[in-house]
Amino acid sequence: MKYIYPIIVLVLSIVFIAVEGRYFSLQPSINYFGLAAYGSITLIMIITFFAIQKLASSREIYLYLVAGFTFIYISLLLSTLDKIYVFPSSVTDVLEDLFQLVGFGFVTVGIIKWIKFDEDVKDKLIEMASVDDLTNIMNRRIFDIEFKREFANTKRHDRTLSLIMIDIDHFKEVNDTYGHFFGDMILKMFALEVSQILRTGDYFCRLGGDEFCILLPQTDLDNATVVAEKIRNLVKNISIKTDKSEIGITVSLGIASYRPEYYDASQILENADKALYQAKQSGRDKSVKERELLAQNDH
Ligand code: GH3
Ligand code: MG
Repeated sequence: MKYIYPIIVLVLSIVFIAVEGRYFSLQPSINYFGLAAYGSITLIMIITFFAIQKLASSREIYLYLVAGFTFIYISLLLSTLDKIYVFPSSVTDVLEDLFQLVGFGFVTVGIIKWIKFDEDVKDKLIEMASVDDLTNIMNRRIFDIEFKREFANTKRHDRTLSLIMIDIDHFKEVNDTYGHFFGDMILKMFALEVSQILRTGDYFCRLGGDEFCILLPQTDLDNATVVAEKIRNLVKNISIKTDKSEIGITVSLGIASYRPEYYDASQILENADKALYQAKQSGRDKSVKERELLAQNDH
């Protein structure tokens, strides 16, 4: 069954070549050009067949293309049979055109579907490379790219830019007490709730584990602190009822902003990380902004 198509092509090509090669007496002389053309077409058809067999990922496209090429090939057969006067010429003319039309129709639909399939695969790959599997928010890889771009824009236009680092408090205990399944549910709910309160231009990313960060373009330290506090309070509403008891979480947050003397985005990240560490050290369920750290360092 697998080789039925190339076998048909080969058999038909023998007929074509026999006709063009004047094995039927009705042909006035050997048509060398016809011979070369049919030989080439046969070769192209066989190569095409083996090439489209690799389209195993989309059986539908494969069938459209095979059907299309088969119709086109039948139309060629009819034009050859015409030469040996098997059918009345007018009938074969109409059939030839009809088979060609249907054949090209199938091939065109197949190619359009192929292009669409290719675009879908590309979109899926881009999504897979930029989205965190569990929470469906941005992953670190794409965040780093966006962060660098936003940092450069901020510097060029002398704007403000802030970063909030968030870490769930005692998350290991949630996993240990209720299991990984509920731990994952908490991570998903957290990502969903926070996503809903952010602006369109903000970037929300899962850095890994229970650590997240939010990049806020055109936002200064004080306004970022308002966002951080909003998140800290919002998180208190997240809860899951289990057989044992109700799971609730708190988060610690570190906030840092761009300053004109910075030359690299990682400097903001470093400061936000230090502020987060401070929030953990000072008892968790807190947001700490870098200015507080700087003030402490000055004393
Ligand atoms: P702290 O308050 O100091 O942050 O304490 P913690 O227990 O949250 O400590 P830490 O942030 O270092 O631990 C992160 C934990 O997150 C460790 C691991 O059990 C858990 N974790 C990491 N990735 C996943 C995940 O994909 N799913 C689940 N359910 N848990 C995860
Ligand atoms: Mg944690």
